[in-house]
Amino acid sequence: MSLSTVYRTLDRLRAKGEVTERSDADGEAAFMLCEPARHHHHAICDECGRVEDVDCTAIEQFSKSLRSLHGFELDGHAMEFSGRCRACR
Ligand SMILES: [Zn+2]
Ligand SMILES: [Zn+2]
Ligand SMILES: [Zn+2]
Repeated sequence: MSLSTVYRTLDRLRAKGEVTERSDADGEAAFMLCEPARHHHHAICDECGRVEDVDCTAIEQFSKSLRSLHGFELDGHAMEFSGRCRACR
């Protein structure tokens, strides 16, 4: 499998919301750490860098209102939350 095929596959999965890619310095292989089968989001602690897996229920609501207010059909999304974790608060 060539590298460009890998990137194309990743792009497609990302568009479907099945891969979450982190954009910070150590994010290179971060999407490998998660179960790709279970769609979820990441809340990343600014203090210690801990990553919490969070579910997607709020975005499903957002998707519904986007469709009713704007007629926009959401096919995929990528979202990441930042803040402080339980230990760092
Ligand atoms: Zn995760
Ligand atoms: Zn923390
Ligand atoms: Zn989601």
